[in-house]
Amino acid sequence: MPSVLSSIFGLKCPKCRKGDLFPTSSFGFDKPFMQFEHCPKCGNSYFPEPGFYYGAMFISYIGSAFFCLGFVMLLHWVLEWSMAGSFAALLAVAGLFFVWWFRFSRSVYFHLVSKYSAETTRAVDAGELTVTTPQPTSRN
Ligand SMILES: [Zn+2]
Repeated sequence: MPSVLSSIFGLKCPKCRKGDLFPTSSFGFDKPFMQFEHCPKCGNSYFPEPGFYYGAMFISYIGSAFFCLGFVMLLHWVLEWSMAGSFAALLAVAGLFFVWWFRFSRSVYFHLVSKYSAETTRAVDAGELTVTTPQPTSRN
C-alpha cells in the first residue's frame, strides 16, 4: 500500500492514496488553483464542508514564513550573498514553488484530518469501484 508520505508529497487522495487531488501538474502553471471535486479513483469528497481548507492556510503561512527566513539567512549569512541578491533568489524560488506549495499545504491538511482506508485502496486496485469523473473546481 502507498505510504502516507508518498501520498502527501504525491498530492493524492488521503482515503485511498491512489487518486490525484489536482487535475494539472504543479509546475505547468495551468489552472493552478483547480482541484477535483472528489477522488477520481474512490469517489471520496475533496470538499466535505464549506471552508474546509481554512486550516491549510495556517500550514501554508507558518511553513512559508519559516522557509523564507531560513532561505534568506542561508544565502546571506552562510553563503554571503548580498541582501538584495538573497531576496531576489527568494522571489524566484517562491514564484516557482507557489502553486506546489498551495497544493502541498492542502494535501498535508487533508491527510491530517482524514482517515486512510486500506480497504478502499484494495477496492480501487481491484477495480471494484465505479466513480464518476470529477469536475475540477476552484472553490475553497
Ligand atoms: Zn480516493
